[in-house]
Amino acid sequence: MIISIDGPAGAGKSTVARALARSLGMGYLDTGAMYRALAEAALVEGVDPSDAAGLATLARERPVTLTPTPQGSEVTIGGVDVTEAIRRPRVSRVVSEVSSHRGVRDVMIEAQRRALAEGDWVAEGRDVGSNVAPHADVKVFLTASDGERARRRRADLASRGIRQDEGDVLSELRRRDALDRGRDADPLLIPDEAVVIDSSEMALDEVIACIADVVRSVESAGG
Ligand code: C5P
Repeated sequence: MIISIDGPAGAGKSTVARALARSLGMGYLDTGAMYRALAEAALVEGVDPSDAAGLATLARERPVTLTPTPQGSEVTIGGVDVTEAIRRPRVSRVVSEVSSHRGVRDVMIEAQRRALAEGDWVAEGRDVGSNVAPHADVKVFLTASDGERARRRRADLASRGIRQDEGDVLSELRRRDALDRGRDADPLLIPDEAVVIDSSEMALDEVIACIADVVRSVESAGG
């Protein structure tokens, strides 16, 4: 079974996807971490976020690995551990431009489809249900109000020792969403057949229970 969880930045996708994968005994695929790893490598190597060909070459030459850990995933690119580095604001600032290029996406999506080809997965991102795995058994589009998304993202950054003003966090989330929605290559959208969940006023447990209900109804329908 594949469960896709797409949605805008800061909607709580990672927390929900990780917890759901754990409770259902399924694998967890963080597709955003792959684009973030490439963005970090590009910053280190001095490849400009607008350089489509340079980034596609970098993506081909430096495979990304995701290894499950209790906190989520350990992330490497070209053998270098970037688990912490990819959460830094400097990566968040450039990742949406890096991920907008067709050639970059082709490399990442091929790796994502290879990972999803076997086993049971909860996969989160922007285009999982619409594009990476259109055959997903359950498709969720997770959203939350702007204020709630900014609050959660700020708390998440603070837990990693990164302090940012809530207004700055919000404008960064909005900027990234606009780029992710407006790009030509696999834009962020609500996939056909997706269950839309607005988690603004829901606790994590409620979101998980809601998705688990959908999973059960799909299972009992035999599909
Ligand atoms: O999910 P996260 O915020 O870590 O994703 C970082 C960025 O990676 C997104 O803003 C988006 O530009 C890109 N991304 C994407 N397609 C995905 C997952 C993430 O373009 N499936």
